[in-house]
Amino acid sequence: MIAGRPLPRAVRLPRFRHLSTRLSVLYTALFAAALIVVAVVGQIMILNHAKQSVRAELATSGSVYDRIWALRARALASSGDVLARDFGFRSAVASGDRATIASAVANLRERADVPNAFVVDQSGEVIGDGPNDLRSIVSGLPTSLTGDRADATVMTRDGAYRVLASPIMAPIKIGSVVFAVPLDAKEIAALQRLSAIPLTATILHRSPAGHWISSDARVPSTPALDTMIAEGVSDTTPTTIDLPDGRVFALVKRLKGRNGVPEAVLLLSYPQAKALASYRTLQLGIALAGVLGLIVVLIGSRRLAESITRPITALDAAAKALEEGGSIQVAVAGSDEIGRLAESFNLMSAGIAEREHRITHLAFHDSLTGLPNRTYFRQQLEADLTRAAKMRGKVIVLCLDLDGFKGVNDTLGHPVGDSLLHRVGGILATLAVDGLVARLGGDEFAIILTDRDDADRPRALAQLILDKLRLPMSVDGHQIGCGASIGIAVSPGDGDDPDTLLKNADLALYRAKRDGRGVFRFFEPALDAAARKRRQLELDLREALQTGQFRLNFQPIFDLKADRIGGFEALLRWEHPERGNVPPIDFIPVAEETGLIVAIGEWVMLEACRQAVSWPGHVRVAVNVSPLQFRSSGFSNVVFQALSNSGLAPQRLEVEITESVFLEDEGSVVALLHRLRAMGVRIALDDFGTGYSSLSYLRSFPFDKIKIDKSFVDTVAQDASSAAIVRAILDLADALHMETTAEGVEDNEQLARLRGQGCGSIQGYLFSRPIEAGMVADMITERMTAAA
Ligand code: C2E
Ligand code: MG
Ligand code: MG
Repeated sequence: MIAGRPLPRAVRLPRFRHLSTRLSVLYTALFAAALIVVAVVGQIMILNHAKQSVRAELATSGSVYDRIWALRARALASSGDVLARDFGFRSAVASGDRATIASAVANLRERADVPNAFVVDQSGEVIGDGPNDLRSIVSGLPTSLTGDRADATVMTRDGAYRVLASPIMAPIKIGSVVFAVPLDAKEIAALQRLSAIPLTATILHRSPAGHWISSDARVPSTPALDTMIAEGVSDTTPTTIDLPDGRVFALVKRLKGRNGVPEAVLLLSYPQAKALASYRTLQLGIALAGVLGLIVVLIGSRRLAESITRPITALDAAAKALEEGGSIQVAVAGSDEIGRLAESFNLMSAGIAEREHRITHLAFHDSLTGLPNRTYFRQQLEADLTRAAKMRGKVIVLCLDLDGFKGVNDTLGHPVGDSLLHRVGGILATLAVDGLVARLGGDEFAIILTDRDDADRPRALAQLILDKLRLPMSVDGHQIGCGASIGIAVSPGDGDDPDTLLKNADLALYRAKRDGRGVFRFFEPALDAAARKRRQLELDLREALQTGQFRLNFQPIFDLKADRIGGFEALLRWEHPERGNVPPIDFIPVAEETGLIVAIGEWVMLEACRQAVSWPGHVRVAVNVSPLQFRSSGFSNVVFQALSNSGLAPQRLEVEITESVFLEDEGSVVALLHRLRAMGVRIALDDFGTGYSSLSYLRSFPFDKIKIDKSFVDTVAQDASSAAIVRAILDLADALHMETTAEGVEDNEQLARLRGQGCGSIQGYLFSRPIEAGMVADMITERMTAAA
């Protein structure tokens, strides 16, 4: 093939679907080719061998004939010599006594056993019987035959004769005794008998046209024969010529004629077919052996090819099965390359299966607890729901969330939190052996229980889990009692698809948390409606932020000692186009849960400072900050931005926080408070007295102000204990050098009581409700004028 160019169609090898067929055909073809080469070489060698032996035989026959003729000639010559030396005979010849010569010749013919004998005198007269044609040739012999004794093969009409002449000397040559032996059928047969092989001897003579032919026309004239004889190539070397009967091995002997010109030729021939006949068995044997060999090779190569391809086919099938996801092992036979390949394949297949198993496990299991993950849980839930739908059964989903897990993480660190999750996973798995326990993420777990006779099982299991998790457990050397809340949803009533059922179990969980944690709740449709409402509220809140539906109201804080407005508290207002005025108590919790409070609070901070900068220098602005916003990473930046953007003096800004900011990571909260303080910003503790351990927080940070919660103020005039608490708070604040504001003062009685107890400032409807931003300046002026 020429690089880049495909083979022409004619020489393209056939394509086989099976390797075994290809190998068998290849081996057989190679063997057949080898066989053909051997057969051809064998044939050539047989032919050569046959040629050589036939040629040798022809050559031998030729020379044997020469030798026998020489012996015969010598015998005839001596008979002739005896007569030629006889005195009487010489006298008869010299005197031309024909009768005596004729009788001597007849006598000689008999003695020598020659068919023809003559005496020819110097004038060419012939005495003796014989065919006329021969006689006329003999008559010319004295001139045509030279030397003392000469012989020649002459051609007459009756055929070829070998003539031999002996001179008659008296003392000069006066004639010759001539013998003529016909080269007839008898002579030829005698010659043929001399040979070990049945060769054919033929006498050829020249036709009138000058071509060499045989007398009986057995050998017609062929140019090849003419050329061969003319060139005299094969007098002693046999050659191959084509005759009408077929190809023959031939040896031509040019018989010496009169005046040295050959008149007859002896052709010794042997048909090649006959020469090869004796080798026929050998050839047949070779052919048979070849065919048998071919069959053996065909069968053997087929079996060999199959022994190679069988494992390859098995490997092929196994590879396909592997591709389709099955794990296949191939039987290993032998330790050759294929055996080793099969072994490697098995190792690879096992490796892939193992890795796939690991990947599947990783994809469907939670690495921390080893429990199924959300993906697996959802698939299982879907399968269970499908099955339950067919069998009219139920599927129960329990959603569980650890109470206060974040606190564990924050206070004891994430490794301890992880260990706790691992422990809880283990506990759930042991308690819910009849169900599927999964970790959905964070501290959220879920359990699927399928249809069972015991209708009380979900309730019992939930209670069992709650009781168990409520007990303190030892995790990494820490005693942790975390507790949990559980929401339960039951199909098909609470949803017949995984998403709805999970969502409803989640709503029930949310409800359980709202109901004080550490309890379980079943889903109720009302929860769903509430959730929907909440979701809509959330969407509306986002829109409100984008479309500027928020504004601020300001409620004055009246300084009782200075008898003037000491500041205003910024209070968020939301005017929704359809909902109307939405109270903060309704939307702030949602904003906190969704994290929107961070962005909303940022707006409040910037807006409050922007407004306050236009007020008189002694009037402060108080801004409420939710715990989530306070803990958000950029909060101190927001404060800084608000101050620098507006140019408000930091000491005119008061940040109001509630005790709940301390619930998580008190240390960093205090650090942030100090940072704000360092900026010059004031910090007030809002709704004081409503938390669990209000007093302890006062130790954590030196607040600038304490705002006494409205709930104490409400009854301060009627209830002695409330009055006592308010007094205690005021004394405490005094001792800690903190200012005080009483919230929600609605009547003069309350005012009088608070003033009497030394409260610093008051805020409430008695003095003023929250007012629009635009009215603040007027109110300040009005109050200042009134005071004057
Ligand atoms: P808060 O910080 O304690 O604010 C005082 C609340 O008491 C205000 O309610 C105010 O209108 C109300 N109030 C004042 N005087 C009286 C009175 O004499 N009688 C009665 N019945 N109520 C009085 P508002 O504006 O509805 O706000 C409720 C709560 O919403 C606030 O309590 C505060 O916790 C939160 N809030 C309001 N604005 C924001 C804000 O911009 N950011 C954050 N995070 N929370 C805010
Ligand atoms: Mg407040
Ligand atoms: Mg308050």
